[in-house]
Amino acid sequence: CKIDYQAPPGLLAGRVILVTGAGDGIGRAAALSYAAHGATVVLLGRTLGKLEAVYDEIEAQGGAQPAIFPLNFEGATHKDYQELADRIGSEFGRLDGVLHNAGLLGGLRPFADYEPELWERVMQVNINGPIWMTRALLPLLEASPDASVIFTSSGVGRRGRALWGAYAVSKFATEGFVQVLAAELEAETAIRVNSLNPGRTRTAMRAEAAPDEDPATLRTPEAIMPTYLWLMGPDSRGHTGERFDAQPPAR
Ligand code: NDP
Repeated sequence: CKIDYQAPPGLLAGRVILVTGAGDGIGRAAALSYAAHGATVVLLGRTLGKLEAVYDEIEAQGGAQPAIFPLNFEGATHKDYQELADRIGSEFGRLDGVLHNAGLLGGLRPFADYEPELWERVMQVNINGPIWMTRALLPLLEASPDASVIFTSSGVGRRGRALWGAYAVSKFATEGFVQVLAAELEAETAIRVNSLNPGRTRTAMRAEAAPDEDPATLRTPEAIMPTYLWLMGPDSRGHTGERFDAQPPAR
């Protein structure tokens, strides 16, 4: 846990970083924080208006001009992922990091009541879309001198809990994929691949998962950014195939 990490202001200077689910919650905070530390960010998400608002905030805070790539993982195809890679390649000529942050909870319900169609949607958004997007981006990442790929996990991706269904299964799959890809890339490339569990954080998704909880008792997305910065920047070099937490474990 790098919750006390103090990122130097130019930590990500010169780097191009893709953030998925950049329009809201933790992804929005990460996009703003990465931009504030010098990165050029590619804002990917499904709601254009939210991405435009983050774009404007980055410009207002004096960050490098971002790019917007609207994409809904539900329905996205290999062609879309290749288009993303082509556009990043032609616009920036490099990619130094990916924060896979977009996620769908899909509600909580017993497995016996889980609609198969909803299960597929959650798996598509949380794991299948992100892994094929990653494959399309590999050539760009391989060309970077120091690339960091971060997949977002969850407490239920490490220990299953009743009612969490496809969401929990998708996060276990995320942890597994991180280990496989990290092991494959370790010897040949400078790409590190790790998983990051934000911990309970004050967002719309958390409010959906725990409607009776007082949001004021939760850390904000901004408060968990130290670990997001550490894992994206050069100070985490040498770490790959590992799992990290952005908060101390809840007591
Ligand atoms: P939010 O619901 O606040 O934000 C999720 C983001 O993902 C939104 O920007 C949303 O877009 C985007 N998204 C959702 N579905 C799609 C899709 N089909 N295609 C593209 N983008 C999509 O969630 P959080 O910020 O809380 O969650 C961020 C990550 O952290 C997730 O992976 C989540 O599983 C994980 N996490 C969160 C925890 C918490 O306590 N908050 C705890 C553990 C893990 P739009 O804004 O357009 O809806």
